[in-house]
Amino acid sequence: MGVKTIMVIGAGQMGAGIAQVCAQAGYEVFLNDLKPEFVERGLSGIKKNLNRNVDKGRMTAAQMEAAVSRIAASTDLQDAGKADLVIEAAVENIDIKAKIFAQLDEIAPEHAILASNTSSLPITEIAAATKRPEKVIGMHFMNPVPVMKLVEIIRGLATAEEVYQTIEEITKTLDKVPVEVNDFPGFVSNRILMPMINEAIYTLYEGVAEKEAIDEVMKLGMNHPMGPLTLADFIGLDTCLYIMETLHEGFGDDKYRPCPLLRKYVKAGWLGKKSGRGFYTYE
Ligand code: NAD
Repeated sequence: MGVKTIMVIGAGQMGAGIAQVCAQAGYEVFLNDLKPEFVERGLSGIKKNLNRNVDKGRMTAAQMEAAVSRIAASTDLQDAGKADLVIEAAVENIDIKAKIFAQLDEIAPEHAILASNTSSLPITEIAAATKRPEKVIGMHFMNPVPVMKLVEIIRGLATAEEVYQTIEEITKTLDKVPVEVNDFPGFVSNRILMPMINEAIYTLYEGVAEKEAIDEVMKLGMNHPMGPLTLADFIGLDTCLYIMETLHEGFGDDKYRPCPLLRKYVKAGWLGKKSGRGFYTYE
């Protein structure tokens, strides 16, 4: 059965971006979050992005309106009963994700595929919360979703081949490039990226250099478009910490221990750009 309707769980920075690209590609979308105001915040971000596209001549006002009209706000998980594919982008926490997947398994139609946008958590474990592990898969978009081309597609231990093929095809219809990855902590992207970010935080913590200097070294010296501390702020420091904890626990190797400064910032509620303050401050 073809995928026509997609439900996105979590209307934060990732969920809103995923809903946007799905709607632009012509899918009917439910954008779900815990409270109406969270969904509203996601929707207003989508409208702002699409308006910018219209201003820059990348799309017409009619195309923008058509895309927006394809997104329905949802605060009721029962809407998953109308979905052919669910993409979960709630917080990076295994207990929360397992609970959501167990509920989705009860609600979503039998043919529906359940995907997670997790940055690092085991797809196999998320799948084990359902009675359809063969239909559970990782679909790891990059931030910001409308701009970044990559989607890591993660096969869980039980993911069926035809489910993998369907998700690869859908990813292409979103104008993204799928890359196949197996299910190990952090997959490929965050196994490599996050220890570098964590090391940059240690560099700050140990007073090797000021934050601006650390970012400048990596930008000018390594040709990175953004320094690692700025990037951490964009990703969200809570998400960075969750990912380091997943790597640390998953591999049992102390080389992945999260920097105490990262923990301190998260405890303070300094989560980066989304909370207005992280390593830097934001309007
Ligand atoms: P975020 O904090 O911006 O958004 C998370 C949203 O999920 C919030 O709006 C929250 O209210 C909602 N939520 C929490 N529990 C929920 C539930 N039970 N049902 C419905 N909604 C719920 O976080 P984010 O940066 O968008 O990250 C979301 C997911 O995407 C995480 O798993 C993260 O690891 C992953 N991810 C993040 C990035 C990144 O750069 N930030 C990149 C790739 C993947």
